[in-house]
Amino acid sequence: MWNIFLKGNRTYDGLFYVAVKTTKIYCRPSCKSRKPKKQNVAFYLNRKEVERAGYRACKRCQPEVDRSPQEKIVQQAVLYLMNHMNETVTLEKVAEHVGVSPFHLERIFKQEMCTTPRTYLEKMRIEKAIHLLEHTSKTNLDICYEVGFNSPSSFYKVFKKRVSLSPHAYRRMEINRSE
Ligand SMILES: [Zn+2]
Repeated sequence: MWNIFLKGNRTYDGLFYVAVKTTKIYCRPSCKSRKPKKQNVAFYLNRKEVERAGYRACKRCQPEVDRSPQEKIVQQAVLYLMNHMNETVTLEKVAEHVGVSPFHLERIFKQEMCTTPRTYLEKMRIEKAIHLLEHTSKTNLDICYEVGFNSPSSFYKVFKKRVSLSPHAYRRMEINRSE
């Protein structure tokens, strides 16, 4: 949660709250205010709890204001993508899950996230692959399926497009760098 908060990712807004012990103010994870020190921060999963603990809502990110129905749909779609990234995910399946048409979902997703569900999923898969390449000794093939690609060729293609290196070359580079 701390890392998400540092990145200022809007995806997690509403899923948890960041409370700052020194100011007694709580924020959305995406708040643009200056980041407090890690030791001064507490995380809460719901608003009632954080308010009961005596925190007031931040004026800047307004965590007490509910998100629009559109934002909520996009957030549900993002959660669905996260939880199903290692399966075959189609736009139709995501749309059915959140209860709108595929066309409508793609349109509002673009508005909120500035990218399509497909590209977003691709990016998440590659981020996970990078993590596995750096921190495990799993083979490229294992990683390919673990992060949800159907075939090694599509894994290589997408990885190369986003990282400008093959998975193999990326791992070698990381190993050389840490030696
Ligand atoms: Zn804030």
